[in-house]
Amino acid sequence: MNDKVILVTGGSRGIGRAIALQAGTQGATVVVNYQSNEDAARDVVKQITDAGGAATAMRADIANTDDVNTMFQAIKEQYGRLDVLVNNAGITRDKLVMRLTDEDWDSVINTNLGGAFRCCRAVAPLMLKQKEGVIVNIGSVIGTAGAAGQANYSAAKAGLVGLTKSLARELGSRNIRVNAVCPGFIDTDMTQILKPEQREAAIKQVPLGRLGHPDDIASVVMFLCSPGAAYIHGTVITVDGGLFI
Ligand code: NAP
Repeated sequence: MNDKVILVTGGSRGIGRAIALQAGTQGATVVVNYQSNEDAARDVVKQITDAGGAATAMRADIANTDDVNTMFQAIKEQYGRLDVLVNNAGITRDKLVMRLTDEDWDSVINTNLGGAFRCCRAVAPLMLKQKEGVIVNIGSVIGTAGAAGQANYSAAKAGLVGLTKSLARELGSRNIRVNAVCPGFIDTDMTQILKPEQREAAIKQVPLGRLGHPDDIASVVMFLCSPGAAYIHGTVITVDGGLFI
């Protein structure tokens, strides 16, 4: 990752934080995007810079077009390039379909799918000009398996696969690789909302017998950014401990 500039949306916590830290450790200059948790984003930046790396925190709500465009303008002005975009930021608003409000539906679609779209749209001209780039979208196994109480989340993550494959077809000939990584149950703030008995039930479903660690996802993302993955394109990689074998 030496000399590479990477943007991780939702880099302040959980999986995004692990991706930012691994990228920083491997020599990348890391832009840590966050929505509201400035302290957490600054902590990630501090860990990277304390270890001798380079990083900066950038606030932008990826559900907001102006915020996203302003963030990419700032990246262009500060670094002049962006080698890797990781569309990681995401939210849940879980309810059974009959109780889902328009707001529950719209906010999840607009953040988890719309946010990735906005960032891809903003980065495409930059990567086309560079004649290279890597985009990794963080989906979810729920996008293909579905889950009761997560229709909005599942629809957004399924859409992310369509976005990934279409973009891969649009950009592949220009040396821009686009892939998706779909985690299973990962131990982050997002899964902290599970009650202890739900957590135990989730673990029982996983053949490897544990929740995933954010680093389990980050290391796959790092591989997809590396020259070793030069021929991996338009692919969806599941990282779920065998949950949906
Ligand atoms: P998390 O711990 O809840 O962290 C979410 C991150 O996204 C935070 O950094 C948050 O920023 C950021 N974010 C949320 N809304 C945003 C917005 N509108 N604009 C910019 N940033 C925003 O979540 P996680 O578990 O690490 O999940 C990361 C990704 O993995 C998500 O896309 C999620 O759907 C996916 N995933 C997670 C699991 C799992 O089991 N954890 C499984 C499958 C897929 P702030 O800190 O500022 O709030």
